[in-house]
Amino acid sequence: MSSDPNKKIWLLFDCLDWRLHPQLENHFLERHDGCDLCITAGSLKGLIEEPTRAYFLNQIEISKKLHNCQGIILTMHMDCGAYGGSESFKDKETEIEHYKNILEQAKTIILSAYPDTTIEKYIIELEHSYVGWESKPIYVG
Ligand SMILES: [Zn+2]
Repeated sequence: MSSDPNKKIWLLFDCLDWRLHPQLENHFLERHDGCDLCITAGSLKGLIEEPTRAYFLNQIEISKKLHNCQGIILTMHMDCGAYGGSESFKDKETEIEHYKNILEQAKTIILSAYPDTTIEKYIIELEHSYVGWESKPIYVG
């Protein structure tokens, strides 16, 4: 075990989009002692797609084994380039439904491999202001 056993570490899945970082990690670090990170284009895209699923499930295995991971935070962000960005959706509601569906699929996949896992799902709103990009995680279950 390469971490302090008293620390409550969670595993955070998020997209590599630069607009999210490091704000997103900092947001979740306010509630957890630490977060292992699984950062790839499209966040959960690789987990829900069959050819790459095993690799992503192995990341969960590693986080549990090495850091006694307490739970998993699943995120999908608005305007994700891996899904064509916001312009590829009819409207904001359609985009949100699309990401909610991916989050639910990912949760089902993880629970079938690790039934006792605590999972939180978030959609990340992105807003641009004079200070730069702001990411706002919205809890969706
Ligand atoms: Zn993205």
